[in-house]
Amino acid sequence: MPSEENPGGAEAEIPRAHVIEPASSGRAKCRGCGERIEKGALRFGEKLENPFAEGDMTHWFHLDCAAFKRPEPLLQTLGERTEPLEDRAGLEAGARQGLEHRRLPRVNGAERSPSGRAKCRSCREAIASDAWRIPLVFWEEGRFAPSGFVHARCARAYFETTDVISRVRRFSPGLSEEELGELRGEVEGQDSGEPS
Ligand SMILES: [Zn+2]
Ligand SMILES: [Zn+2]
Repeated sequence: MPSEENPGGAEAEIPRAHVIEPASSGRAKCRGCGERIEKGALRFGEKLENPFAEGDMTHWFHLDCAAFKRPEPLLQTLGERTEPLEDRAGLEAGARQGLEHRRLPRVNGAERSPSGRAKCRSCREAIASDAWRIPLVFWEEGRFAPSGFVHARCARAYFETTDVISRVRRFSPGLSEEELGELRGEVEGQDSGEPS
């Protein structure tokens, strides 16, 4: 098995340092959205222990995808960075929001339910066919695992905030403004004060 050790990196005690750097090629896919990261675009590299070989591996993200889905390591890296960065404040705000509302980084877009089979993780009721739902991913052992859905109307109870539209826009880029408006209506519509 080819080893992906750091060049000259036999020193085992060096802490892993995540990076923000321009993409050296257009080949890497973003772990957050699944799309390729354009060559030259700034990207976030999260260093993780490689379970299959010695040394580290790097998971690459668009910066905004990292802010939404990997808030802790991104904030850590932004905190260490002294060079200027475009939209630094926006990235930090998105990431902080994900720390404040611990379930927010699970938002993986939105869609109309293709069937009536899935149950909502918040209210435990079935999600009707064609109803708006928010797919969830959980970060587990270095990867995002698809982990069910919540009703759009249950977003407030589940995420403890209704501020999910920027994340939905990022991870379901195919939704029209009209669809996003509809979704926003459902997310913000119900004033359910029930704690989850
Ligand atoms: Zn991305
Ligand atoms: Zn529900």
